[in-house]
Amino acid sequence: MNKKSCISQWMAIVCAWLFLLNIGSVFHAQSNKTTEGFTANGISVPSKSISYTSFHYWDKLDGQGTAITVIEPQKIYGELYYVGTAGFCSYLLNTGDGLLLFDTTGEEEILSKHIEKLGFAAKDVKWIFDTHYHNDHAGGNYGIVTKSKAKIYIHERGIERLELGLGKGKIPDGFEVVGLKGGETITCGKYKIFVIYTPGHSQDSCCFSVDIPGEHGTKKALVMGDASGVLCDVAWQKKEGYEGGGRDYRKTIPLMKTLEFDLLLAGHPWQIVKETNTDGNPFVSREDYYRFLDNRYKLTDKFLKLHPKYE
Ligand SMILES: [Zn+2]
Repeated sequence: MNKKSCISQWMAIVCAWLFLLNIGSVFHAQSNKTTEGFTANGISVPSKSISYTSFHYWDKLDGQGTAITVIEPQKIYGELYYVGTAGFCSYLLNTGDGLLLFDTTGEEEILSKHIEKLGFAAKDVKWIFDTHYHNDHAGGNYGIVTKSKAKIYIHERGIERLELGLGKGKIPDGFEVVGLKGGETITCGKYKIFVIYTPGHSQDSCCFSVDIPGEHGTKKALVMGDASGVLCDVAWQKKEGYEGGGRDYRKTIPLMKTLEFDLLLAGHPWQIVKETNTDGNPFVSREDYYRFLDNRYKLTDKFLKLHPKYE
């Protein structure tokens, strides 16, 4: 081996090592399980749910509520706020150097009002992270971007589909979109957003991980969007033009099981209220998270056995 190729091999090993070091903190060390709970990378994840916030997800949909029923915007933890509706989630992070939104719901007017009610302004949104292109997650992008010129981050496979999510012709001039691949860390003010590619629900589904300092120390938030649920519907799969969803999903659920978090930030409130913590507490325990993922996997499994073409 000549000296040059030896050096490049070593550089590749060092790069791989740095990459693993970088992503290591979001993956859960299952071997550290104790009877009291889990400890992963110095962060204790209790097996029983302990709430460090007065924020709770709501279930207003069983009454007269609709997905767009307005819910008071609220602080969740540290500088993280809930600005979504009763059915569609959106989260605001005050980075100290501009505002960041995780998903924009399909209801930009409500979203902007919620941002104002908290004492902020939509024009100060600098970053939008879309978990995927579906309208109920990315539909508010247009309104926010026209007010703020925010930069949009979405998985690269979602870019050509954004028009489907936003509506035809709803891509304004100066619309700046950054395509994600997964595995990257993006610095936004004092926060670092780690991107995890989790296809299955849609071809561009991503989860985002971010550490949030607050009153009870730093907590790790996992923004999961709809990554946990494949669309078990033939018509949908056809419309999406994504028939490998089942195959991708079978890899994504085991990957999601390795993700570390304290706070589980849902794509829709019912993912917490109906499927994990009935009291709506976003500090979801590991056991409840596994049960949630296992139940969703079973549903998909049933669908795929009926429709092997989507396997
Ligand atoms: Zn979706």
